[in-house]
Amino acid sequence: MTCVICKRGIPQSGTTTVTVERPGTLVVFRQVPAQICPDCGERYLDAEVMEAVYAAAEAAAATGAEIDVRTFHPV
Ligand SMILES: [Zn+2]
Repeated sequence: MTCVICKRGIPQSGTTTVTVERPGTLVVFRQVPAQICPDCGERYLDAEVMEAVYAAAEAAAATGAEIDVRTFHPV
């Protein structure tokens, strides 16, 4: 798959940091699996990974923490 942004790079498997903002809460996930373009840095996340990230973000927001940094664990 060629990167849809720069149309040059071939995204490679790796991990990235994803930040999700919810009212009153900022949730940062580290080590999220993604395909990353070596050329422009665009990140491609699987739908199920995004779902898991958002579900975990909702859970983190529910704790009332203003900033929550966590390592992502695939479900
Ligand atoms: Zn690219």
